Amino acid sequence: MFEPPITPLTMCRLCNQPIVQGPPIIGESEADHAMRVMRSLVRHLQHSHPEHMKEIAQQTQILSASLYGIQIVQSYEIADPVMLLEYDKARAPLHALTRKNTLTDAQLETVLTEKLAPTVYKLMAIRAAMPIAKWLRDFLSEEGEFEHATVKQARESTVAIKTA
Ligand SMILES: [Zn+2]
Repeated sequence: MFEPPITPLTMCRLCNQPIVQGPPIIGESEADHAMRVMRSLVRHLQHSHPEHMKEIAQQTQILSASLYGIQIVQSYEIADPVMLLEYDKARAPLHALTRKNTLTDAQLETVLTEKLAPTVYKLMAIRAAMPIAKWLRDFLSEEGEFEHATVKQARESTVAIKTA
């Protein structure tokens, strides 16, 4: 049975305010719990960060149009290189936006040394595996040399805003 969290675990990234979710409701389904918490999140943004809510609404319209186009294109076998390029320009930011996991070089090295080292006799093997592991990570997660230009541009402009 689903047990809702006792303490609120949600913090606003814009103002660091904890979002009070209210006491757990016995018998509440996961879907109802999620909807109740979601209403709290929306309410906080509407009252405390209306400009951010406006940006979310605008971005959602843009993303919705992108998703619509992606699904249209996915309905065809397309060989036109311009169409494929435009498809990739629409697809890559959506992929980056919803990507759950990221793996830094340090985390990757920790995984290799702490998880793999006990089964690998020589540390040199891990050092040799690191470039291959990095390449594989970048390839699968579209990072580094595989990062789409539009995603890289968006990420760099976000970093520039945060450091300004
Ligand atoms: Zn806030």
